[in-house]
Amino acid sequence: MASPGNLPRIVILGGGFSGILTAVNLVRLAAAAGGAGPALITVVNARRPVGRGIAYATRHAGHLLNVAARNMSAFPDLPDHFLGWLRTRCEYEEVPENELREAFLPRRIYGDYLRSLMHHYLEGVEFVEGEARGLEDDGAVVLSDGRRIRADRIVLACGNEPPAPLPGSDGLAGHPAWVGDPWSDWEKRLPSTGGTIVLLGTGLTTVDAIVTLQALGWQGRIEAVSRHGWLPQAHFRGIEYPDFPPADVDLAGLGLERLLALMEHHCGRLRALGANPAIIVDKMRPHTRLVWAGFSREEKLAFVRDHAARWNVLRHRIAPEIHARLATAELTGALRVRAATIVRVAAAGTKARVELEEGGALEGDLVINATGPRTRFSRLENPLLRDLLHQGHITSDELDLGMRVDADHVAIDARGGRSAKLLALGPLLRGTYWESIAVPELRGQARRVAETILGLGSGTAREEVMMEYMI
Ligand SMILES: Cc1cc2nc3c(=O)[nH]c(=O)nc-3n(C[C@H](O)[C@H](O)[C@H](O)COP(=O)(O)OP(=O)(O)OC[C@H]3O[C@@H](n4cnc5c(N)ncnc54)[C@H](O)[C@@H]3O)c2cc1C
Repeated sequence: MASPGNLPRIVILGGGFSGILTAVNLVRLAAAAGGAGPALITVVNARRPVGRGIAYATRHAGHLLNVAARNMSAFPDLPDHFLGWLRTRCEYEEVPENELREAFLPRRIYGDYLRSLMHHYLEGVEFVEGEARGLEDDGAVVLSDGRRIRADRIVLACGNEPPAPLPGSDGLAGHPAWVGDPWSDWEKRLPSTGGTIVLLGTGLTTVDAIVTLQALGWQGRIEAVSRHGWLPQAHFRGIEYPDFPPADVDLAGLGLERLLALMEHHCGRLRALGANPAIIVDKMRPHTRLVWAGFSREEKLAFVRDHAARWNVLRHRIAPEIHARLATAELTGALRVRAATIVRVAAAGTKARVELEEGGALEGDLVINATGPRTRFSRLENPLLRDLLHQGHITSDELDLGMRVDADHVAIDARGGRSAKLLALGPLLRGTYWESIAVPELRGQARRVAETILGLGSGTAREEVMMEYMI
């Protein structure tokens, strides 16, 4: 895999949204700056279909985007790009503009969009299927099968990890009723006639699993359990509320206590107006990064411990039609959601058993760990990240939620220095930005990473703020 001539080689590790959009931005920004191509670009990707990643690889039409079409452009500087692309498809050609903008479309359509961007921009890019395992002393990337790829810059775009194991789950490895990775192909293991599926967690992954079960016409009972028992809320059309955040408040220096008081106050005002207070969370989003950066470590810890669950349930809302289906399932008894703490999981013959702190247990023909991606960075299973961490090439952020990067996405090493080679983006940066998961954040990050590599000034910041207002 030697590169011709002495063109620098940029190796992107991970081929989901973050990796692909980094490559696309490298190509388009280099072309806009007058160059034919910045360098040789190689994308290394394993396990999930390239371009689609976990989120957009689903084949179920019922798995919908949880962001309206108007806010799903892949480019921070082209807000209507996704809408324009949709118009090239016959099924969306005639849909009235207002309807299309507000629609929550199938995620697989968004996967098609990403694949079409690859087709358009990435003709000259090399794609390697394989698992990156680590770096050699000369900085080459080594794959699990021994292949080596010379690299001048390396972008870590490794995405979401499967959920952390639960107490007892190691003993369930290989058990027919245990599903440790909710994004694996568990449908084939469903009992054919009725039975019980237990979903651990009540967030977006659980919603996906319920939609899958409904789409398959599965007739059994679904039990979902999490500490708070909160299913995601539905998106709604909010009222205009220009009073938040107040113009005279220094958001960067706000701190947790004053932020909570401010939010409380405005939630109260919205309730008095008969409006949904979740509007406040939407209005905070363009400023989350700033406010988070201004928190002390103790404030960040307190937010994660005491407020993150509530924040997430208001922030990660779902399409109203999916929400309505969940409500119907609860009403008919097909779905039961409970608030309880999971103590451990264990085998119970051909079933798996979930013991609850409050007493009692749930038994399932399938028990699916849908507790959300693992977030403890120093405990990640990804061999590449473990190797980089072990060698000191990267280091955990102050909360161990992800890895440390500088403002231009250059990785910070164990000694606090800027890496000469490594950059990162995506969910790996949740400790740095708090919100680092969805397209409205990641598109700006992908562009910023490309700008850093190309040595261009950041054109992202202003556009990003503009775009994030379009929630
Ligand atoms: C089920 C689900 C639904 C979602 N729905 C939405 C939505 O509607 N709207 C929205 O804005 N966001 C949504 N998201 C958020 C989603 O995280 C982002 O939109 C985006 O897809 C993240 O892309 P990524 O490239 O960072 O990560 P991923 O999609 O996880 O891609 C990372 C890729 O890197 C590969 N990889 C990792 N390590 C290595 C290695 N060592 N070597 C080689 N390859 C490696 C992985 O196998 C994977 O293919 C959803 C997320 C999930 C999980």
